[in-house]
Amino acid sequence: MPEYPPGHPSRGWVTAQVALGANLGDAAHTLRYAVQALAQAPGLRLEKVSGLYRTAPIGAGGPDYFNAVAQVATLLTAPALLAVLQATEQRFGRERPYPNAPRTLDLDLLLYGSAHIGSPTLTVPHPRMWQRAFVLVPLADIAPDLVSDPALAAVQGQPIERVGEVPGWQLFL
Ligand code: AMP
Repeated sequence: MPEYPPGHPSRGWVTAQVALGANLGDAAHTLRYAVQALAQAPGLRLEKVSGLYRTAPIGAGGPDYFNAVAQVATLLTAPALLAVLQATEQRFGRERPYPNAPRTLDLDLLLYGSAHIGSPTLTVPHPRMWQRAFVLVPLADIAPDLVSDPALAAVQGQPIERVGEVPGWQLFL
């Protein structure tokens, strides 16, 4: 059997984790829209979604952020998955998926199997994920093996509050 690199179409399904963030308007529903978009994208299967968390913005003013992490299985390469995330961000900016939908949706590719990628447009693992409680705490919800206790301890000074679930995400499984 040849050894295919991660993301090669012959390699099959790869598990990947995606961070979701929104901080304007009904941010919980924005994240629901993002989860639905991931679940419905060709070549993606939604596996798990963390709890919904609320955090104060880091290094900026403005409303609190709502954050979650989704785990998908995907047949897409990592760059193709990033393209889906960016298209979803842009679509959200164009569409009005619910009344008075705000404009800000941020989707980051955290991990793509065990791949290490460093291209001009894509770095995986995400370079700032280990410094952010709003990534590590929800990631630990759904993939505890990927987040060590020292990694969680390193961000424990950052306030983060669990506020429930991404509304209705189980409908998209
Ligand atoms: P931002 O929307 O501010 O998070 O930044 C998006 C930019 O980061 C885009 O130009 C991406 O090409 C780049 N980027 C690099 N690595 C990643 C990653 N793992 N996930 C999302 N965007 C990434």
